Amino acid sequence: MNDFAQQLREELDELHASGRYRTLPMLAGGGVRRRLAGQDVLVFCSNDYLGLATEPVLAEASNQATTALGTGAGGARLISGNGELYAALEQELAAWCGYEAALCFSTGYLANMGVLTVLAGADDVIASDALNHASIIDGCRLSRAEVRVYPHGDVTALAGILRAASGARRRLVVTESLFSMDGDIAPLAAILDVARQHDALVVVDEAHALGVYGSHGGGVLQALGLGGHADALVGTMGKAMGSAGAFVAGSRLLVDVLLNKARSFIFNTGLPPGVLAASLAALGMLRTDGVLRRERLLEHARRLRYGLGELGFTVGGESYILPVILGDSQLTLTWRDALLEEGLFVQAIRPPTVPVGTSRLRLTVSAAHGAADIDCALEVFSRVLRRLGIVRAIPQLPP
Ligand SMILES: *Cc1c(COP(=O)(O)O)cnc(C)c1O
Repeated sequence: MNDFAQQLREELDELHASGRYRTLPMLAGGGVRRRLAGQDVLVFCSNDYLGLATEPVLAEASNQATTALGTGAGGARLISGNGELYAALEQELAAWCGYEAALCFSTGYLANMGVLTVLAGADDVIASDALNHASIIDGCRLSRAEVRVYPHGDVTALAGILRAASGARRRLVVTESLFSMDGDIAPLAAILDVARQHDALVVVDEAHALGVYGSHGGGVLQALGLGGHADALVGTMGKAMGSAGAFVAGSRLLVDVLLNKARSFIFNTGLPPGVLAASLAALGMLRTDGVLRRERLLEHARRLRYGLGELGFTVGGESYILPVILGDSQLTLTWRDALLEEGLFVQAIRPPTVPVGTSRLRLTVSAAHGAADIDCALEVFSRVLRRLGIVRAIPQLPP
């Protein structure tokens, strides 16, 4: 083997040794009932919280747009990839979350890159929650601002960082609202207060909350009566909206600046018409039967959380994202494999996605599940617990 191949091999060996090696699961079918490597599985690790990804109304809208307009945008939006679907979608998204305007990006990853690099630069300080998503971390790094990480949800520490940054040109706070791997919610009212006191901008990533929190699914800020209060809201359409893509909502001024300066917007091909049409249809579905789907989702979450607690597991958070924190990566993999043998597909989330020592099974429920599916999951957990014996969830380590 040549040197380079040898180096690559060693890198993979290291991942294997630390329980961090990843492989792609080969899934067939859609929704919560699929086949994984030929085996029937019940999926408990999808972010399609409201079951909209397999909703025929979305597929119909997507098919129509594809037939009429083609499969691809054909270019970046500032060149030839823009169209009326984009305008309609952006207008609806802005109104939905309580903002003047919105700008779509192809993914949430690119949206965070865009908004953070445009709002912060070398003379600025970004205060970032310790558990923020990788796309936020990378956006912070790419901005070249000085990044100060505050302990998860710690507003006092955040205030300290902002106070110490009074000499910076600009201060910016960035946080998720509903945290993707922990299922808990940032103290947004307190964060907005502290930010205002220190003249700091606030960016809130509502990727996992949109569609569920808020009177019309417009997010946690909206649920708290703070709709439109953050300077920018990042949302994605690949999760509860069952489609793909993302957006940044804010003032018209902000959107104009993003459109002119965000490189992840400018140098990126527009989304296919079918995807935009599916997102528009998702917003329509949320208006007609969003409440029903939300209630179903939350009832499933309650049932699963309660049942896992009864079995003795420590379940983090307070939402439809249910992290069962086991600590050790290998142990988490053992659990994942044992659950899979029984037909339950749950992912093992390990570093670097989560901090070292907090590896976990991350269960998510969906409105596409039935009550019997939740009972089935609990039954499997109970059986695996008996089989693996001693294994008990340990309390979450402090971040
Ligand atoms: C999923 C996610 C993203 C990235 O969105 P994509 O559209 O999948 O690129 C960004 N932020 C958070 C908090 C996420 O969970």
